[in-house]
Amino acid sequence: MRIFDPHIHMTSRTTDDYEAMYAAGVRALVEPAFWLGQPRTNLGSFVDYFDSLLGWEPFRAAQFGIEHFCTIGLNPKEANDPRCVEVLDVLPRFLAKDRVVAVGELGYDSMTKEEDFAFSRQLELAVQHELPVLVHTPHRDKATGTRRTLDVVKESGLTPERVIVDHLNEMTVGMVRDSGCWAAFSVYPDTKMDEHRMVRILQEHGLDRMLVNSAADWGRSDPLKTLKTARAMLEAGFSDDDVDKVLWRNPVEFYAQSGRLSLAESATETGAGATFEGNSVLRGARDKAND
Ligand SMILES: [Zn+2]
Repeated sequence: MRIFDPHIHMTSRTTDDYEAMYAAGVRALVEPAFWLGQPRTNLGSFVDYFDSLLGWEPFRAAQFGIEHFCTIGLNPKEANDPRCVEVLDVLPRFLAKDRVVAVGELGYDSMTKEEDFAFSRQLELAVQHELPVLVHTPHRDKATGTRRTLDVVKESGLTPERVIVDHLNEMTVGMVRDSGCWAAFSVYPDTKMDEHRMVRILQEHGLDRMLVNSAADWGRSDPLKTLKTARAMLEAGFSDDDVDKVLWRNPVEFYAQSGRLSLAESATETGAGATFEGNSVLRGARDKAND
């Protein structure tokens, strides 16, 4: 089994996670720029974070045999802080980079006018840079937030096949399917969505334009939820090919629209259960850091 996690925040995860993900079949992932929990207070803090998503984290992932890509954007939560808004001015420089496969994650948190401004501005940037978009939906008042998200996306002029609407559930999947946007689901240990509910949604809505991610971050989350969903699909009677479509070919198809998804031949081979022993460079880097 080969797995592509289309939304996971590896900056917050350990090397044990990388090892376990490789053993589970994860060969590629996308790390969206997001909120780090501790509020950032200045532009430089974002610039260093974006550089890390483009430099250090892909390097770290490569030591474990995993291809790392990212999305860059000002997240909705911090779009409300006036000290962070100038991030919008430096985004074009980052959106030009090779490993940036979408603008994101964008969207609404509390649905303020500041969030409206940052969301629309970044959708314009996506059009200008010919990049697809990853949109986060709010955790509170999700149906209203998702409806408004779809309206704003429609007004932006982006074609729906270039947009992921993420963190969906049974309430919001229908309207996103109707819009033509890609529907994504974050499978979590105890909130949002679990793997069995996910299987029922796939049974009901089909496998086209459907994405499953772990969205693992600094909170209680599980980077192996992609594998667990794959197993639940097989137990429910889906075929190996169905699993490959949802967990590999769909995310590849979506992010390939950036024109930047260059997957090494070795990363695309099927077959999990292997142990990757190539992390000696990282060990060297760490020893150096400890000197
Ligand atoms: Zn996220």
